[in-house]
Amino acid sequence: MNNANADPLELEKFSELAHRWWDPQSEFKPLHEINPLRLDYIDGIVKLQQKQILDVGCGGGILAESMATRGAIVTGIDLADKPLKVAELHLLESGREVTYRKIAAEDLARERPASFDAVTCMEMLEHVPDPAATVAACAALVKPGGHVFFSTINRNPKAYLFAVIGAEYALRLLPRGTHEYARFIKPSELAAMCRHAQLSIGNLTGMTYNPFTQRYALGADASVNYILHALKE
Ligand code: SAH
Repeated sequence: MNNANADPLELEKFSELAHRWWDPQSEFKPLHEINPLRLDYIDGIVKLQQKQILDVGCGGGILAESMATRGAIVTGIDLADKPLKVAELHLLESGREVTYRKIAAEDLARERPASFDAVTCMEMLEHVPDPAATVAACAALVKPGGHVFFSTINRNPKAYLFAVIGAEYALRLLPRGTHEYARFIKPSELAAMCRHAQLSIGNLTGMTYNPFTQRYALGADASVNYILHALKE
């Protein structure tokens, strides 16, 4: 791999679990549950029908496929082998069309700069050694006037409590060791990375989980999980 901006242990972690990716009761349950929310959010802004979309860190393809279902022309990229294989296999079941490739965002940015109407990069930045470089690559990949969406985890005591202690230990929503606190990113830090990459900030939306109703919702509370929408100038 000629790209240094990837953590082999992180990629391994996702490969190990990959066969359960499309099981809605598996470790990937949270991704299945937030997907309709983020899909509607993205579609509301981008109008996915017939748009060229790149999903960076697509994993098993939950978001990528759902965007294709809305009529988008979707490319999904990831650096972990098994999730990509699972994503390919799932297309046989769903009959959707998505182009999957194993390539780093930085490398695709050199190959196809300014090519996509929107770039999505969800739940991935907190697994990458240099998130600012990934943000810059996403900015390079989107067309002028296009949209970029990042979702990640905020870094503060509450985020630690909910995303690590709550999700991995108390509620067992995620396997232990899924997330490393030091890699969480404050919205202000992500916004600075965006601005540095000539992206202007559109919208900050919180994603909350209510452990009593066991439901996720989008709203103003970005203290744990959040989506940042940015625009290419
Ligand atoms: N974006 C998907 C999957 C999130 S899981 C979704 O929200 O549904 C995180 C994904 O990021 C995994 O598939 C993992 O393999 C991928 N990933 C981690 N580091 C990466 C890197 N440096 N480049 C590309 N993908 C990476």
